[in-house]
Amino acid sequence: MSSSPGGVSIRRVTKFYGTVEVLPELSVEVQPGEFIVFVGPSGCGKSTLLRMIAGLEAFQSGEIAIDGRTVNGLHPSERDIAMVFQDYALYPHMTVRRNMGFGLQMRGTPAGETETRVREAAATLQIEHLLERRPRELSGGQRQRVAMGRAIVRKPKVFLFDEPLSNLDAKLRVDMRGEIKALHQRLATTSIYVTHDQVEAMTMADRIVVMNHGRIEQVGAPLTLYHEPATRFVAGFLGAPAMNFLPVEVSGGEGVLPGGGRLPLPGVRAGAAELGVRPERLRAAVSSDSANLHGTVAALEPLGADTLASIDCTGHRVVMRLPGDSPIRLGEPMALTVEAAAVFDAASGQRLALTR
Ligand code: ADP
Ligand code: MG
Repeated sequence: MSSSPGGVSIRRVTKFYGTVEVLPELSVEVQPGEFIVFVGPSGCGKSTLLRMIAGLEAFQSGEIAIDGRTVNGLHPSERDIAMVFQDYALYPHMTVRRNMGFGLQMRGTPAGETETRVREAAATLQIEHLLERRPRELSGGQRQRVAMGRAIVRKPKVFLFDEPLSNLDAKLRVDMRGEIKALHQRLATTSIYVTHDQVEAMTMADRIVVMNHGRIEQVGAPLTLYHEPATRFVAGFLGAPAMNFLPVEVSGGEGVLPGGGRLPLPGVRAGAAELGVRPERLRAAVSSDSANLHGTVAALEPLGADTLASIDCTGHRVVMRLPGDSPIRLGEPMALTVEAAAVFDAASGQRLALTR
C-alpha cells in the first residue's frame, strides 16, 4: 500500500475489548508533517487508537501504515514512532540525561551520537541546566519537557502524544501548548495528538478529528469545524461557552422559535429541527419587532473583555457574549437577533443548513 513519507494511514481498523466494539471500522489519512489532533470525550477510544498506531495494542481487523509501510504485526521499536504519555513515564532512578538517552542507547546508538542528540534536545527545550537531576527533583512542567526530550532525541517519523498536558496547571498548560506548537513548526515531524480538551484541539491542530463513541464525526481545519460543524455533536463539543441549541419548527422556508419569533430558513425541509447559535452570534435586537427571540437576563458573568449573559427565553436558556462594558442588568428584558445559525436534524443530529 502507498502513502507519502511520514504519513500515517489508518484503514478500516476495528478494535474490540472482549465483545465490546470500541473502534468500528475507523479510517483516517494523516498527512506527512501535519499536526493532527484527535479530540473527543473521555472513553471515546483516543488512547486505544494511539496505542494501536504505536504497536502497544492489537486489533481485530484493518490496516495501519506508517510512511507507506504496513506496520500491523511490527513491534513498537520497529515503527519509527515516539510517544509522549500523560504521566510522562520517566525512570525515577535515572537522571534527566539518562532518561533522555536511554532509548537511543538501547538501540545501540554510539555514546557520542547519543550525547550530541541529548544536548541538542535539551537546548531546544531549555532544560540543559536540569540534565543531572532526577525526575522527583523536577516540577510537573519540567518533567513534561523531559518526556518531550526523550521523544525528540529519537528523531522519529511520527510523534504520538496522549494528553501530555493533562497533569499541568492551567497557566503552564497554555505555555506548553505554545511550545509544542512552536516545536512542531521547527521540526515539522508528523504529530498525532489526542486530547479531550477542545481548546487544545482548536489552538494546536492543523486538522482536528472529532471522535464520539469510537466513530469519526468530522475531520477538518479548526475554524471550518467551528463555523461549519457537520453534526450537532461537533457543534456542541467545540467552543466555550458552548453553542446554544433551541428547538425550531420549520415550515415554508421559515423557522418558528420558542416564544413565536421567526427566522428565515430557506431550503430547510419542514418539520421539527434544532437551531444552533454561537454565543457571539446573538445580538441585542435593534427593535423588539425585528427580534428573533425575547427573554430576560437571568445571569451575568463579567470576564473583563467580554461579559457572558444568560438569557431565559420562554423556558430555554441561551448564553450570549457581549462586550465587557455593555450596560446590561440582571432581570431586564432582552430582545435578541440571531446573526448566524446552524440547523440540525432533530433525530440524527446531521447538519441541514447554515444561515448567514
Ligand atoms: P479515551 O482515551 O478516549 O478516554 P480509551 O481509548 O482509553 O478512551 O477507551 C475507550 C474505551 O475502551 C472505553 O470504553 C474504555 O473503558 C475501554 N477500554 C480501554 N482499555 C480497555 C481494556 N484494556 N480492556 C477493556 N476495555 C478497555
Ligand atoms: Mg485516553
